[in-house]
Amino acid sequence: MAAGNRKQVAVIGGGAAGLMAAIAAARQGANVIIYEAADRVGKKLLRTGNGRCNYANERILPLKDYHNGEFVAQVQAAAPIDPIMELERLGLWGRADDAGRLYPLSNKANSVLNVLRMHTARLGVQERCDFPVADIRLDPSGVRPPFIVSAQDGRFARADALVLAPGGDSNALWRLFSHPTVKCHPVLAPLATASAPIKGLSDIRIQASAKLTSPDGSCKAQDSGELLFRDYGVSGIMIFDLSRYASAGDMLHLDLLPDFDAFELLDRFKKRLEAGQWPSAVGFLEGIFHERVSQAVCRAAHIAPNAPATSIDLAELVMVIKDFPLLVRGIGDAKQAQAMRGGATVDAFDPVTLESRLVPGLHGAGESLDVDGRCGGFNLYWAWLSGLVAGTHAGLPDAD
Ligand SMILES: Cc1cc2nc3c(=O)[nH]c(=O)nc-3n(C[C@H](O)[C@H](O)[C@H](O)COP(=O)(O)OP(=O)(O)OC[C@H]3O[C@@H](n4cnc5c(N)ncnc54)[C@H](O)[C@@H]3O)c2cc1C
Repeated sequence: MAAGNRKQVAVIGGGAAGLMAAIAAARQGANVIIYEAADRVGKKLLRTGNGRCNYANERILPLKDYHNGEFVAQVQAAAPIDPIMELERLGLWGRADDAGRLYPLSNKANSVLNVLRMHTARLGVQERCDFPVADIRLDPSGVRPPFIVSAQDGRFARADALVLAPGGDSNALWRLFSHPTVKCHPVLAPLATASAPIKGLSDIRIQASAKLTSPDGSCKAQDSGELLFRDYGVSGIMIFDLSRYASAGDMLHLDLLPDFDAFELLDRFKKRLEAGQWPSAVGFLEGIFHERVSQAVCRAAHIAPNAPATSIDLAELVMVIKDFPLLVRGIGDAKQAQAMRGGATVDAFDPVTLESRLVPGLHGAGESLDVDGRCGGFNLYWAWLSGLVAGTHAGLPDAD
């Protein structure tokens, strides 16, 4: 160990997980340096929650809320303190909305970053920005510190322990250690769907529920909430959450009036038809849907929009409204994706320390592991939790 025998910890990636890991490791007395590819740390944090940073959720149920939820539960059980309390201890006060989503009282994402950077500075954590780590290896000669971290341009540094927290698709870094990885693909994103049924609906928002089925008809997931039509498909928090389960070829079955069951709706429609003077099929749906949604519904039910309302097959109309099918083509706009499914295989880590089972001294944190959660603060919660656990153990002084 160099630097006055303090343990040298290198944190790769200055995102949410890396910053939390750096604070936790420095608290253990380690000399910590963050290596960050961008020109400053925490850039993505500033974009989260539309600039408000939905930094956690009060109601975390790992098995339900996360891919690899069992692993998340084990890490959570091993954490020295709940990350929400840890953030509060660092100075971040938050307010939860009715879905348990926590936002800073300031309503500003930059106050989350500022709180973290206040503590990294106080603890003497150094930031090396514009340092895209391209290679990491263990010195074969046995010289200590054993890890050598280098950038493409030849700059390099040594460390006794590493926290690898580069977010996104960082499988290439894990493969440097022959760590097993799961191929990455974006999730928490809009879905591209067949466009003909939703032609003309772009930018319209409705309250709906949706069921996602695989080509064999089995249900993969369902959800309800606001749905936003796009030229290429559908968006909205409900769709972002469903995108975690979706593949090309699946079907999305939209219920456009989830507040009524089919029998009730048919009954109401019969009475509505009898009671009113409806100018046309589309006119019959006026007051229920946006006009362009009414037109799309009529198209799907094979009803000419200007056909007389009396010609509507009400049972068919109800069927289309309660099950408006859309063929899924895949992720709609990967640039809008909020998380990556895939990454370093979780089985290769000890959940108590987040240390690699293959490379002693190497710890993993954040999105670069194969963990992702649903919308609502769950992904940042994982970043804090894993950063806290990985940093705490990476920073522990070695026994010898
Ligand atoms: C638009 C948007 C909004 C979001 N909103 C929310 C929200 O409100 N709530 C929520 O819970 N989650 C949200 N998320 C998800 C959340 O931002 C991520 O889950 C979280 O940032 C992951 O943290 P991380 O530290 O693992 O990775 P990141 O935040 O991605 O940080 C990784 C860091 O590593 C750096 N890096 C990468 N490769 C290298 C390398 N080779 N060398 C050195 N540095 C490297 C990157 O530049 C980056 O700074 C949102 C995501 C997006 C894109």
